[in-house]
Amino acid sequence: MFNLILFGPPGSGKGTQSERLISQFGLKHLSTGDLLRSELSRQTPLGVEAKSFMDKGMLVPDEVVIGMISSALDSNPEANGFLFDGFPRTEAQAEALDKLLKLKQTEISLVLSLIVTEEELVKRLLGRGKTSGRSDDVDENIIRARITEYHKKTSAVADYYKKFDKVVEIKGEGTVDEIFDSLSAEIEKRMYIGQ
Ligand code: ADP
Repeated sequence: MFNLILFGPPGSGKGTQSERLISQFGLKHLSTGDLLRSELSRQTPLGVEAKSFMDKGMLVPDEVVIGMISSALDSNPEANGFLFDGFPRTEAQAEALDKLLKLKQTEISLVLSLIVTEEELVKRLLGRGKTSGRSDDVDENIIRARITEYHKKTSAVADYYKKFDKVVEIKGEGTVDEIFDSLSAEIEKRMYIGQ
């Protein structure tokens, strides 16, 4: 199995690149943001709980997203590998993910970390807010809160994986094609030898 984490701050292009990477490399896409929004639109108890955090730009509690990822892993026993997008976002989530993958006799193969300046992030998210229908993209205060959460809790996840030498940083500015090519090159280097 090849298990990839696409890592980066809100607005760094994870969603856009994930769509292309899963079709190129045959991975199963697991986006906690998408899973949460689906719970929210179905108004499940989990969705109702998550909404109060998401509306403030705060992270949803670890046990909620870990449970969601655990069942997503169990419901895809045939997958050749997973692309994790927006997860893990805290060190506790990273440790939990390692344990879940170990139970399945696999592990994280690579963490690709998209690097984008803060001003570019805010610009992109406000732009996306005009068309995405996502309420957390419309308000600049919520956007800044998400970026602050990223610096406070999520950037530590990259340090966690750096200890295991799994992180490669990729410039997240340029055209979508250029960034896709840089990401793909790193995957290709590892996918066919380590599998
Ligand atoms: P973005 O990366 O653009 O901020 P996402 O779609 O990944 O957006 O997530 C939207 C919101 O969902 C986050 O601001 C957060 O409230 C919640 N969320 C998503 N993934 C996680 C996670 N792994 N842990 C905690 N909260 C999460």
